Amino acid sequence: MNLILLGPPGAGKGTQAKLLESLYHIAQISTGDMLRAEVAAGTPVGKQAQAIMSSGGLVPDAIIIEMLKHRLTQPDCANGFILDGFPRTVPQAQALDVMLDAAGLSLNAVIELKVDDDALTDRIGGRFSCAKCGAGYHDQFKPTEVEGVCDVCGSTAFVRRADDNRETVAARLVAYHQQTAPILPHYAAQGRLHRVDGMASMEEVTQQIESVLSALPPR
Ligand code: ADP
Ligand code: ADP
Ligand code: ZN
Repeated sequence: MNLILLGPPGAGKGTQAKLLESLYHIAQISTGDMLRAEVAAGTPVGKQAQAIMSSGGLVPDAIIIEMLKHRLTQPDCANGFILDGFPRTVPQAQALDVMLDAAGLSLNAVIELKVDDDALTDRIGGRFSCAKCGAGYHDQFKPTEVEGVCDVCGSTAFVRRADDNRETVAARLVAYHQQTAPILPHYAAQGRLHRVDGMASMEEVTQQIESVLSALPPR
């Protein structure tokens, strides 16, 4: 199964993609996580991406498309993948169509998580994750069971993203509405777009996605 999760920053893409990864045994591919790894490793791509990411803009299509092309050839994608944070522009969506065609693959569904901008600011403001295993949390909406201890791996070290501040979030929302939202009609025209109410609880959102997936026609 090959899926795309679309939605603004903070909509819950990463949260849902991690769950779907284990439910469907498909690879979660987050271009944001890949870029953060490049930044941390100090690679040439990371050096180029760092300033753009901290301003809330989008990294150039050519860099992202090259990165994704390589990622899709990795063995863990053999059973399918779930793209989280890609595509984010019309040229990225078009490049993905070409890539999948060339590999004899197709998309089963594109799922849009709809969340109000006000709620996004709150979600991003409270977001943190485990520094060791990457499990995602929220100060109010998903605190750890034991304060200061990761539910999944027991680590006591957590991180907050440098770009999860008010100014950068505002710029990221503008980028979403101006550059990413225009890809929705691209997938609607292909008959692949499914909308899910991302304002619901995490569990309810997962259930909505599962019911979309179970009703898909065979491709
Ligand atoms: P994205 O990957 O779309 O940027 P995340 O999955 O990281 O979004 O979610 C952003 C924050 O909101 C995280 O702290 C997460 O725990 C929280 N969150 C995710 N889904 C929901 C939800 N349905 N209701 C409330 N909070 C949520
Ligand atoms: P979120 O879902 O919270 O917006 P991501 O982790 O997906 O965050 O992305 C963080 C940043 O990485 C983006 O603001 C952007 O600068 C960069 N980025 C991630 N994916 C892409 C992409 N497909 N195209 C361009 N830039 C990207
Ligand atoms: Zn952990």
